Amino acid sequence: MNLRSIIWVVLIAGASLAAGAPGLRAADRRAADLLIEADHVVSMNPEMAVWEPGAVAIRGNTIVAVGDLETVRRQVRARRTERVGNRWILPGLVNLHAHIAMNPMRGVADDMELMAWLRRYIFPLEAKLVNARFVYEASLLGCAELISRGTTTVVDMYYFEDDVARAVREAGLRGWLGQTIIDFKAPDFATPAEALQYTEATMQRWRADPLVRVIPAPHSCYTCSPETLRLAGELAVRFDSPMTYHLAESANEVADVRKRYDASPVEHAARLGLLGKGRLAAHCVQLTPADLGLLQGSGTAVAHNPDSNLKLASGIAPIPEIRRRGIPVGLGTDGAASNNRLDLFAAMDLAAKIHKQRDSDPTVMPARDVVRMATIEGAAAIGAEKQIGSLEPGKQADLIVLDLSGPLYEPVHNIYSHLVYVAHGEAVIGTMVAGRWLMKDRRLLTLDPKRLARLASGHRGEIQRITGGQP
Ligand SMILES: [Zn+2]
Repeated sequence: MNLRSIIWVVLIAGASLAAGAPGLRAADRRAADLLIEADHVVSMNPEMAVWEPGAVAIRGNTIVAVGDLETVRRQVRARRTERVGNRWILPGLVNLHAHIAMNPMRGVADDMELMAWLRRYIFPLEAKLVNARFVYEASLLGCAELISRGTTTVVDMYYFEDDVARAVREAGLRGWLGQTIIDFKAPDFATPAEALQYTEATMQRWRADPLVRVIPAPHSCYTCSPETLRLAGELAVRFDSPMTYHLAESANEVADVRKRYDASPVEHAARLGLLGKGRLAAHCVQLTPADLGLLQGSGTAVAHNPDSNLKLASGIAPIPEIRRRGIPVGLGTDGAASNNRLDLFAAMDLAAKIHKQRDSDPTVMPARDVVRMATIEGAAAIGAEKQIGSLEPGKQADLIVLDLSGPLYEPVHNIYSHLVYVAHGEAVIGTMVAGRWLMKDRRLLTLDPKRLARLASGHRGEIQRITGGQP
């Protein structure tokens, strides 16, 4: 072979390698620890590609290849292959607003307005019930529900967030965990100054963790003084950290804030410098056109919680308008005491329907957009769209496996329609975060169901002793 033909061969080999073309030699294939093959893979990538059949190849915590089955098989050399057959693989769901330690409190106070619910029932119960041990145990229960129903990333807000973090870490979930800062005596701290100090120390403690991040969570404009809100914002800036808070949730909140500060909650938050990139505002139900304008320019993201908003009759957030204005928005469940399930499939179903009714327009919030809100747009709302929210090479291997086989589901004509209008969390049979299965074939792998049952039973007793068994 002369020199010219040697160069030619090298060029051809290089080109076919770069294109990931067929005929790669075994040595040129990408190494993977695990290849998952399925009849259906839904990517939520920019092209919204669905591969039938498809495959996802994973190395460590990262997706190294994803696509149609034959292509991925040619691209990778996997140590292990798992074939899931007639199942659907999707990116893990992103839950932008929860209070996971409230799971044992579901059903203790239903069917009432937000302020009455909070001030007459939830705050007094929490004052007696909530301590570090309770929060850790209850968070394990909350994590079990999230994993079982397909959430892989959760934004939480509660007390003793270091103990929430321990539980989330043990469960193996990804979490942005907000330590509550509030002006009255809370279950963990008597003053906002103490809460701020603890928040800073806890943020520091979890700083290097690959999955769990602790962030400041000043409760709201109606429970935090301007000074508390300002200090929490400064803490977030100092740590280059996201921050989350409740905002414009109910008409009572709006009236309260207007009376005290002569401003809407959004205007009040804007004056205090609380709007901006990395700021996640839960609810945003009661917004004026001026509020929408303030949010639009700011980079602030919105967590939409349709179940909780409807159940507390807080109103219906103007989500189609929020999306039209390009304000980042995803879905949340809120806590199990006001929902009462941490099921993003239920949230998707409602999010697709209530806005059609509110706007008298069945074309708003199509199913495909709602699935985007629960995945890639939710990830973007917390600035994590390069790491999670879709199945793409280089992203974290956060995925779920759904069983949509049998007469409850088949035939499936349009997967987005099925995910939003047909499926519930019970369709999820597998959940993986960062390349690690947390649930497989409906079996929890990081949490012990017997232990969870014991904890739930213990919490039932504790809550009944406090409430006298009277819901
Ligand atoms: Zn909330």
